Amino acid sequence: MSNKVDLSVVIPLYNEQDSIEPLYEELSPVLNSLDTNYEVIIIDDGSKDASFQRLKAIHERDARWKIIQFRRNYGQTAGLSAGFEAAAGDIVVTLDADLQNDPRDIPKLLDKMNEGYDIVSGWRKDRKEPFFSRRLPSMTANRLISSTTGVVLHDYGCTLKAYRKVVVKNIHLYGELHRFIPAVASSIGVNVTEVPVNDRARRFGKSKYGIWRIFRVMLDLITVRFILSYSTRPLQIFGGLGLATGAIGVLIGLYLTFVKLFLGQNIGDRPLLILAVLLIILAVQMISIGLVAEIVVRTYHESQQKPIYMIREFLGDADDGVETGTDRPVLVDSSR
Ligand code: UDP
Ligand code: MG
Repeated sequence: MSNKVDLSVVIPLYNEQDSIEPLYEELSPVLNSLDTNYEVIIIDDGSKDASFQRLKAIHERDARWKIIQFRRNYGQTAGLSAGFEAAAGDIVVTLDADLQNDPRDIPKLLDKMNEGYDIVSGWRKDRKEPFFSRRLPSMTANRLISSTTGVVLHDYGCTLKAYRKVVVKNIHLYGELHRFIPAVASSIGVNVTEVPVNDRARRFGKSKYGIWRIFRVMLDLITVRFILSYSTRPLQIFGGLGLATGAIGVLIGLYLTFVKLFLGQNIGDRPLLILAVLLIILAVQMISIGLVAEIVVRTYHESQQKPIYMIREFLGDADDGVETGTDRPVLVDSSR
């Protein structure tokens, strides 16, 4: 058997000491039955309980289980990101450490991947969580994310997903963006599908997120939307806003000039005058921000030699110098 890794399983973990042993016991048989060369990468996200000691024991027992320990708690997105960076497999599967995802669903995801998809997302059709505090917000968020990003999935929040290597090596995640990976990945052009997966109640420990997650998700949604649509042409959005406010400001100004010159009325104490001035200043600022952003975007792409496109396949000679490379990071869309 060669040493090439076919499958990497990436698991972010924070204070889940009691789930570790059951996770190993449940996940290992599933992976062993797959007859592929696999690795499991667990990212200990600065746990304060005995998680790391227990993970270390597992690594000593089974070297295919690799542990990355963060110096402090950075959050689930950073954990996944570190896992993606380290993953060597052609296919990367992510799941939660808390046993809420069922490892026995992994073969289903992989079968679907074999049909040629770039991302197969788990869909917790039958969720085991309270309706008002968890499922309702999540349903609303899924609708909102689907309609703003154009990547339609029932369940963005499910960590159990499978990705092709090209996807995980080419996206950059910040903040809490792990919930939007399929949407972020759509910027490099991906085929996404979903399969129903089992959802289980948490057995040990407790959830790391409260109701505040809703607001963070909303803000991240704005970021994702912006990155997807305008990251290569920021002037289009800022300039557009600037032109609109500027036009209204000028119209009001013309009206006031007319009133002053032809009707001889005093306009110094009219609130409209303040509005006109405000709108025109706003317009100048918007357009300036847009121009500055244009320059920033150019620096961003050129300093990192980031192409503004990604090639899926090239039919031609290998020495033609056309790179279909998977190693260069891209987070960009062109004009959509
Ligand atoms: N997690 C992490 N870092 C954090 C918070 C969570 O690595 O700062 C891990 C956590 O251990 C779990 C997964 O991310 O494996 C999902 O977290 P959780 O179960 O709390 O989220 P929920 O299932 O409630 O959405
Ligand atoms: Mg959980």
